[in-house]
Amino acid sequence: MDFSIKQEHQGILDTAAKVAREDLLPRAADIDLKSVHTTESWAAIWENGLLGTTIPKDYGGLGLGLLESTMVLEKLAAGCASSTASFHMHTVVQRYIDALGTVQQKEELFSEVVNEGKLFGSWGSEPGTHGGAAPVKVVVNRAKEGYVMNGTKHFCTMAGACHRAMVHTNIPDKDGNRRTIMVMVPTWVEGVAITGEWNTLGMRGTVSPSVTFDNCFIDENALLGEPGEVEEKGIEQTFALGDAAIYIGIAQGAVDWFKEYAKSHTFDPSPQPLSHDLLLQRRVAEMTQRLEGARYVLYSSCQRYWEESNMGRWYLVSKAKYLASEAAVFVSNMVAAGLGGRIAHRRYPLERMIRDIRTATLMPPSPDRCLEVIAKYELGIDDVQLASRWGS
Ligand SMILES: Cc1cc2nc3c(=O)[nH]c(=O)nc-3n(C[C@H](O)[C@H](O)[C@H](O)COP(=O)(O)OP(=O)(O)OC[C@H]3O[C@@H](n4cnc5c(N)ncnc54)[C@H](O)[C@@H]3O)c2cc1C
Repeated sequence: MDFSIKQEHQGILDTAAKVAREDLLPRAADIDLKSVHTTESWAAIWENGLLGTTIPKDYGGLGLGLLESTMVLEKLAAGCASSTASFHMHTVVQRYIDALGTVQQKEELFSEVVNEGKLFGSWGSEPGTHGGAAPVKVVVNRAKEGYVMNGTKHFCTMAGACHRAMVHTNIPDKDGNRRTIMVMVPTWVEGVAITGEWNTLGMRGTVSPSVTFDNCFIDENALLGEPGEVEEKGIEQTFALGDAAIYIGIAQGAVDWFKEYAKSHTFDPSPQPLSHDLLLQRRVAEMTQRLEGARYVLYSSCQRYWEESNMGRWYLVSKAKYLASEAAVFVSNMVAAGLGGRIAHRRYPLERMIRDIRTATLMPPSPDRCLEVIAKYELGIDDVQLASRWGS
């Protein structure tokens, strides 16, 4: 397959790599230690023109396709996993707005991003509901001159920092049946309250506590599309392609750090740098080859995604997410085996990278779900219920 990209896109990837190195990486340790929002890193992403990667050019964005925007995430993640994971949520929301929004909604919402550097969260997961975003318990009901929303979400990345959150909700359609609809909720309005804490193993800077909506009033303009329309757009699964890129990116950052350490340090009694040790060389080869394989499958999944049937998309995404998670966890094991106890020290970035990588299997789809989907596709089983179990 040909993954060559246009020259203008290469410039964007070079910018992303520079932002990762110069703006995100120097802040990553402090953000992780304090478990705080990555505000300055997001500002750097905006100031370097990357916040609107998935906004069409007509609305002032970069108009990147799935492959190129995924590559941007991979570059950024090598600098800071948390900033990139939250930025990723934001970019997928932009895809939803583009697919479902009216011209007026697009003009208003995209202008907030391009001109003001505002961020959008995506809040789907719910406490007490296994399987992530489905079935949706947060409900929206008609009220005078708008709607009211009630319920609780958890794992709300950027709660307290994003300007609006795209909340996955449930609304009655014209026949009274409840269907999914995305609602762009202004996070500053009455009835929105952060109700949980965020103090986690990894991805500590995503700051993703619980949020409760208590008779929260929403105006007509906040709803994206018609009830149920979102289910036909095929955007939900693209979250996992971005996650795959992020975990490959973090793991690549870990490998790069490991290689530099090996080239510049000796272990007694050998006078040569660690990089001359045969066992270490083998570890480097295994890590880089696993990452290269995962990257190849990710890129080809991105390239083929929009041409595929629904089941074909689940399959492509499951392969990409499974192999990326496996490769990243493998890298975390190999760097730990290669450098021993010293990597447990906070003074080395590997300690943080390993904790961030560990969250790979928690993000949907889980390895169990990926394997189920891959096997069903291989066996020719078209599982129409898959969407309702995708979240875990
Ligand atoms: C750092 C981080 C940031 C996140 N940010 C966001 C965000 O911004 N927005 C958002 O919406 N979500 C977010 N999430 C949540 C993430 O999407 C969820 O972790 C994911 O949806 C999986 O859901 P879960 O963790 O509740 O796992 P579950 O679905 O509860 O699965 C846990 C285990 O239970 C099993 N299981 C599932 N259903 C059943 C059942 N019925 N019976 C028996 N076993 C079952 C699964 O197979 C799995 O082994 C974030 C998570 C993390 C870690």
